Amino acid sequence: MDIEVVEGDITQQDVDAVVNAANRAMRGGAGVDGAIHRAGGPAVLEDCRRRFPDGLATGDAGWTTAGEMTARWVIHVVGPNRTRGETDRSLLTSCYRRALEVADELGARSVAFPLISAGAYGWPLDDAVDAALETLRATPTEVEMARVVAFGRSTYDLVSARL
Ligand code: ADP
Repeated sequence: MDIEVVEGDITQQDVDAVVNAANRAMRGGAGVDGAIHRAGGPAVLEDCRRRFPDGLATGDAGWTTAGEMTARWVIHVVGPNRTRGETDRSLLTSCYRRALEVADELGARSVAFPLISAGAYGWPLDDAVDAALETLRATPTEVEMARVVAFGRSTYDLVSARL
């Protein structure tokens, strides 16, 4: 699998699936989650309610339609919320691994990822980048291209330097 980094907005990516940094309730939120629900429109929330009546566990992944976005699917993951004391790093790496498993179930060949837990959930950015890249490199998958979408130039530079 090729791994690339771009600076930009996750909702604008021309890929088969975009990954959402969701929360356990799966009913929308701020940051990436808010942007994805805005760009995808009400069909995303409808699908979340229908397919995930009880939400999703931390570290797990599940898919919905991408609604009006260019991508076909959203793969929702729930990263650990460090600001609430969830410090288990395996929950963060699990998000990337499970997202690729769900992508394989869907037959998605290109997947765009945000830096899960690196925003409101308070994971230190350096380690969030390392967790993303090491897990994407180590997970066997049929996905051909994983794109890390860095929000802002300094994050882009950090991810590039580690790629
Ligand atoms: P979490 O709650 O998992 O920490 P956030 O959405 O708060 O998720 O932030 C995760 C990362 O995504 C942060 O680095 C944040 O700067 C970045 N981000 C925020 N909005 C977007 C967007 N529209 N596209 C890509 N990345 C984004």
